[in-house]
Amino acid sequence: MKLHMVDVVGQYHKIKPDVDAAIHKILDSGQFILGKEVGEFECQIAGYLGVTYAVGCASGTDALQVAMMALDIGPGDEVITTPFTFVATTETIVLLGAKPVYVDIDPKTFNIDPTQIESVITSKTKAIIPVHLYGQAADMDPILEIARKHNLKVIEDSAQALGASYKGRKVCTFGDLSCISYFPSKNLGAFGDAGMVVTNDVALGEKVRMICAHGSKVRYYHETLGVNSRLDTLQAVILSVKLKYLDSWNAARRAAAKRYNELLKGTPATIPFVAPECDHIFHQYTLRAPKRNELAEHLKQKGIPHAIYYPVPLHLQKAFAVAGKQKGAFPVTEQAADEVLSLPIHTELTEEQLVYITDAIKEFYRTL
Ligand SMILES: *Cc1c(COP(=O)(O)O)cnc(C)c1O
Repeated sequence: MKLHMVDVVGQYHKIKPDVDAAIHKILDSGQFILGKEVGEFECQIAGYLGVTYAVGCASGTDALQVAMMALDIGPGDEVITTPFTFVATTETIVLLGAKPVYVDIDPKTFNIDPTQIESVITSKTKAIIPVHLYGQAADMDPILEIARKHNLKVIEDSAQALGASYKGRKVCTFGDLSCISYFPSKNLGAFGDAGMVVTNDVALGEKVRMICAHGSKVRYYHETLGVNSRLDTLQAVILSVKLKYLDSWNAARRAAAKRYNELLKGTPATIPFVAPECDHIFHQYTLRAPKRNELAEHLKQKGIPHAIYYPVPLHLQKAFAVAGKQKGAFPVTEQAADEVLSLPIHTELTEEQLVYITDAIKEFYRTL
């Protein structure tokens, strides 16, 4: 059986005529940089989320960087975030000369634990970056309350959670700024790198746009230090076609997750916890698995793709020693890194595949 962690080709084939037509229109126009299609896609996303301003950029990583630049985060500043996330969240903080300050995660949701945030706030703290990990919103109400009380900015890292909601409201609408990734494997994926910053603060949105364009509003007149980060026109039209399917694709992922839950009943693996106030979109379907490394080896033997997001917490990465934390500093995160295992999850999974994958897991635990 041919299995994929994500099936981007299978999904493409279902919408091929529309995608191909959109691509060819751009190839025939010769307009590859910006142009009206990028603006149209920005408006579509703003409309989908219910925000006032969206700025396309080159990747989710760039989105995080330019969002922090727009908030003037730099040397001497501290940014509170989670050590259990993709590297980009921390990397961009460090690139700007600021210091990542971690707090541990909630053991059930894997998201930042809001009850631990206040104890690490100092006079240098500028912002909090919650990450909506695996497609489930972080617990935003207490985070926003702490931010208000201490006059901090909030940047949502929504890279894994486009379309997810918290208490009935979509993620990307809570923070001062919110960052989206359209990396091909994300729930709304381009055919290459792409990203976006969204906000309800138009002035801040315009500042982000200026930073993305070399710090200029009028070409060759540079008001601030910027970068070159643009959403390609080709990616914009591809994403525009795919956006129409996002909600149904997220529903398909939820359905696959529900089926996994049923099929895995009785095994010692812990299935994903869905907080009652969250609408999870299952960017990842992640188990806590006893004997995780042995299970991973067993799945490999069976030709079943799987992944560990993430094997090494960021506070233990050599590149981020600047955070100044040793092993044992964040025990919940460190335990998660030892136990998590993500299974294939995408819109094209069949019942046969789900049964095959879960049978292999049951077999592993039976023979243990
Ligand atoms: C994917 C991802 C990013 C970065 O997005 P890119 O588009 O790959 O640069 C940032 N944060 C998280 C949590 C991600 O999963």
